[in-house]
Amino acid sequence: MGETKHAPTGSGKARSGGPLEAIARMSSTRANYLVGQAADFVVSFALLAAAFWYDHSQPLASALVVLLGLFIFSFIEYAFHRWLFHGPVPLFEQGHTLHHEKPLGYDSLPFFFPPIVILLIAGALALVLPLGIALLLSGAIALGYALYGFSHLVIHRRRFNHPLARKWAAVHHVHHHHPDKNYGVTSPLWDWLLGTWYVSRSKVR
Ligand SMILES: [Zn+2]
Ligand SMILES: [Zn+2]
Repeated sequence: MGETKHAPTGSGKARSGGPLEAIARMSSTRANYLVGQAADFVVSFALLAAAFWYDHSQPLASALVVLLGLFIFSFIEYAFHRWLFHGPVPLFEQGHTLHHEKPLGYDSLPFFFPPIVILLIAGALALVLPLGIALLLSGAIALGYALYGFSHLVIHRRRFNHPLARKWAAVHHVHHHHPDKNYGVTSPLWDWLLGTWYVSRSKVR
């Protein structure tokens, strides 16, 4: 990608069969998908456990920080999906287009990538916040991400019996047919707030 046409052969790093290509190949495997999902939960639990170990003197305040982290993640989920995965930059948009075409495919990020990003976020937060709060907040954001991945997995791979669960899954199935609506997977909050909630025509009249 972005290589000049006239680059002399043998120069540059983008060789076919190189490490980047190996990572790209791995990213479309079922093993990467499942290990990645597990790794997201492990990192979130590790950060939350570290926060608890560091300071558990204020359970109510801690619970509020966790709720804040989940709330922050719900916006990250919406914003990434709307403005990156359905946005103008092909690098971000291509993989997601693949998911829209093949909802049962295993294409996802390399399993180690989200944990690294989360640990970088934890480190950055620790520079500006007390350590206990930085651990809690990054752990809660990581938990939100892991729950999002798990929700998306079950929405596409399970048929629910409970009417509420069916309705919840239907919201995302509608997104696959109307890609400019229902960007939220775990919750419809930001679609309601930002005007992208799908309203069927029968209800408009
Ligand atoms: Zn989907
Ligand atoms: Zn989408």
